[in-house]
Amino acid sequence: MRTLESYTCGRWTAGTSNPASLHNATTGEAMATASSHGVDLGAAVRFARERGGPALRAMTFAQRGELLRKMSDAIVTHRDELLGLAMQNGGNTRSDAKFDVDGASGTLAAYADHCKTLGDGRFLVDGEPVSLGRSSRLSGQHVAVPRHGVAVQVNAFNFPAWGMAEKAACSLAAGMPFLAKPATATALVAWRIMQVWVEQGVLPEGVGQFIAGGAGDLLDHLGPQDVLAFTGSSDTAVKLRGHRRVLEKGVHVNVEADSLNVAVAGPDLQRGTATYDLFINNVVKEMTQKAGQKCTAIRRVFVSADGLESVREDLLDRLSTQKVGDPQRDDVTVGPLATAQQKRDVLAGMQKLMKNAKVILGGPDKLELLGADPAKGYFVMPTLLEAPEADRADEVHAHEVFGPLATLLVYRDAAHAAALAARGEGGLVASVYSDDKAFSTEVFLGLAPHHGRVCVGSEKVAGQFIPPGTVMPMLVHGGPGRAGGGEELGGTRGMMLYTQRTAVQAFGPWLEALAAMGKRVG
Ligand code: NAP
Repeated sequence: MRTLESYTCGRWTAGTSNPASLHNATTGEAMATASSHGVDLGAAVRFARERGGPALRAMTFAQRGELLRKMSDAIVTHRDELLGLAMQNGGNTRSDAKFDVDGASGTLAAYADHCKTLGDGRFLVDGEPVSLGRSSRLSGQHVAVPRHGVAVQVNAFNFPAWGMAEKAACSLAAGMPFLAKPATATALVAWRIMQVWVEQGVLPEGVGQFIAGGAGDLLDHLGPQDVLAFTGSSDTAVKLRGHRRVLEKGVHVNVEADSLNVAVAGPDLQRGTATYDLFINNVVKEMTQKAGQKCTAIRRVFVSADGLESVREDLLDRLSTQKVGDPQRDDVTVGPLATAQQKRDVLAGMQKLMKNAKVILGGPDKLELLGADPAKGYFVMPTLLEAPEADRADEVHAHEVFGPLATLLVYRDAAHAAALAARGEGGLVASVYSDDKAFSTEVFLGLAPHHGRVCVGSEKVAGQFIPPGTVMPMLVHGGPGRAGGGEELGGTRGMMLYTQRTAVQAFGPWLEALAAMGKRVG
């Protein structure tokens, strides 16, 4: 049994009491314990501010990029070991584990490249100068400088590797040290990555720290230059946003939370076309990858009345062939959920949705497993529901069930599809599949205000389309309302969270000289 330690102030420390257990999601066996009790989190915050921040700010973007490259390479070097841990602790199939671990190294590498293009500057120059007076003698300019605090990065259980890496990449690129706090239940992969970074001497002192176990009194130590970047449930987000110290000190907060992502099949979709196949493939992928435990997974599937029968039949066919069971087996395509609590939550959520929708496939009572004991692992079958009345399906539009589950709903026209999507009260990603440009444009314009990202699939891009659940470093990730109102990634945009945008009014040539020390973007 491993004991996960925290890495703070340049050393590893085990908690002194109340350890939480981390389990093998397939067998239920305890694998490790983690506790942050007794770890001086105030000292960690100060260490980051006093050591890590100055060290990072002294580096150029290109040098920060070199640091990110080493972090990426370190993960690649230990890839097989990390995949193995993700399969055990997270219940990931090998393919699911790659999605997380390769996503982590890939995002770090993408930001390493991005930093290289930003070159020798140490801060960002936002847009062009503007003339404020009668001549250019008096000018104005915006610059974005790194905040002089620590970036506290609290992550969800479903992407222990990618979650830590994507946040660290953005803050380090911007010039802020990070203090990572993964979700305790699946922290094994993140902890091992941190160990590897430390073992390989990749991180300068104070630039990266790690908490194994609960957040303890961490937020009580935050101040006005710090950033709190959170990914997790809306309920926890409410607590963090409302934390007295966070409010009092004006701590900069970014939230990535729940989402009831929609996929809209255009009324023009016909079986046998590339766009139809793309739609079916994407829905199946998003329902089953990581056993549906992705904040970007498709939860609501909108089809026209004419298209319902074929879509239902084809989804049923494809989902019925999924093999659920021990994710170590090559023939298994859907592993268990990550924790016992997660399974309880999914089954309870399914019951809520079943008030408005009938079970087409799967459901709460069925379990057919390959090589796994249903009494021990945290398994749920892929489940397709169908709500006969989309407008009255209140529960379906209100509850995110974080497992391999989606609900079919029928829409009337583009405006109705967009209005139904909006009932999710803000989402991370929506997708629309159609070769009718007028339809996809109208739906897009209806979906866009309610989503951080919209993917428009058509015959023209079917061969290279990236499923909507895949978050990419060059496009922003986040969404309004229920999704938290945050924004991460998207190249330079993701770095902005960790900077202070300052307007400068000064003598034009003085501003020009200042701007020459940074990197102009936007
Ligand atoms: P969670 O229960 O809200 O936990 C998220 C993180 O918050 C964990 O690290 C947890 O630590 C920590 N936490 C809990 N209470 C806290 C407190 N009082 N102070 C400080 N930290 C606290 O969420 P989850 O179950 O891990 O994740 C599932 C949810 O995350 C889903 O709703 C999903 O949609 C959402 N999610 C969103 C995104 C996105 O990018 N938008 C990505 C992934 C997941 P402990 O584990 O130690 O309790």
